[in-house]
Amino acid sequence: MLKIVAMFFRFIPLYFVLLSLVSSSCVTSGKINKVTDTSEISKPKNIVLLIGDGMGLSQVSAGLYFRDSPSNFERFNTIGLIKTSADGFVITDSAAGATAFSTGEKTYNGAIGMTSEKQPAKTIIESLSERGFATGIVVTSSVVHATPASFYAHVDHRYKYEEIAEFLPTSDLDFIAGGGLKFLNNREDKKDLLQELRLNEFEVLETIPSTIGTNKQAVLLAEDGMPKISEGRGDFLPKATQLALEYLSESDKGFFLMVEGSQIDWGGHANEVDYLIEEQLDFDKTIGVVLDFAQKNGETLVIVTADHETGGFTLSMNGSDYNTLKPSFSTGGHSGTMVPVFAEGPGASEFGGIYDNTAIYFKMMKLLRE
Ligand code: MG
Ligand code: ZN
Repeated sequence: MLKIVAMFFRFIPLYFVLLSLVSSSCVTSGKINKVTDTSEISKPKNIVLLIGDGMGLSQVSAGLYFRDSPSNFERFNTIGLIKTSADGFVITDSAAGATAFSTGEKTYNGAIGMTSEKQPAKTIIESLSERGFATGIVVTSSVVHATPASFYAHVDHRYKYEEIAEFLPTSDLDFIAGGGLKFLNNREDKKDLLQELRLNEFEVLETIPSTIGTNKQAVLLAEDGMPKISEGRGDFLPKATQLALEYLSESDKGFFLMVEGSQIDWGGHANEVDYLIEEQLDFDKTIGVVLDFAQKNGETLVIVTADHETGGFTLSMNGSDYNTLKPSFSTGGHSGTMVPVFAEGPGASEFGGIYDNTAIYFKMMKLLRE
């Protein structure tokens, strides 16, 4: 691995800074730290679903090439592929993609927790909360953005952010982290949803706490989406994920946590290679935090997947040079390529094979059946 990276290091000096920034905290240098195979145990107590928005196989591969130590993706034993199309669209957007995961519904692009007939579809968070599970979301977008919103809101279109935000105070969520303050406290209707959150037993935090309280937690650190890594987000995603795991694992009944590397998609839309790779590496580090937790915990299923691929991203060769990668894009939008699923922990073996994105929901619900 080091040899391969050194090779790119020489040919693509652009990544010099990136490589030197990469942390190897979650992986022993030069040695893949595989999680103990607990896949023969069929029933997890907890599930962590990590979504790399826009993360196709080339994005995952780029993360492997431009890292100076083995990737946390290499710790998974079960790999599958999902077909990502939406209802009526060959290519999905993030709203329909996330609604497939959260409700099992194939729906139209733009739908937030809604069926094709524009009826609310019950989400995994709503179902599990009723049964006493603790639930959480941690994202690098705003918390009302399409992916997280599809797990707690029911709105006919993704861009109705203020309407989506109204679901938060009375949602079944116990832990919320991401950006999006302005949709809560600087609204056209002048409602103060931060106050509503407090009235619904949330502690609202505008910095990452070092220890976690006992109330429900809403960590809201930006007006809209969180800053890019290159603009100072730091280790928000791994840190907030660690806090969420500490908080949610206090639940006797079990927990469900959705973590999103939201901006892998944004790097793809912008056709910016370094933006994409920085976000991919941050997501990789966060996967390491979750796998380390799951390894100790023993009852947690970890699933990593994507809603779709963004950018038609490829790692082609540079002209006739077999020794140089030339990362490039074929679109500023999404593509229809299948995306990978990685699973580890009790029930992981369910996730091998090729299946529809909606099957992620049905597999999770089957594994957590009473
Ligand atoms: Mg997203
Ligand atoms: Zn997108």
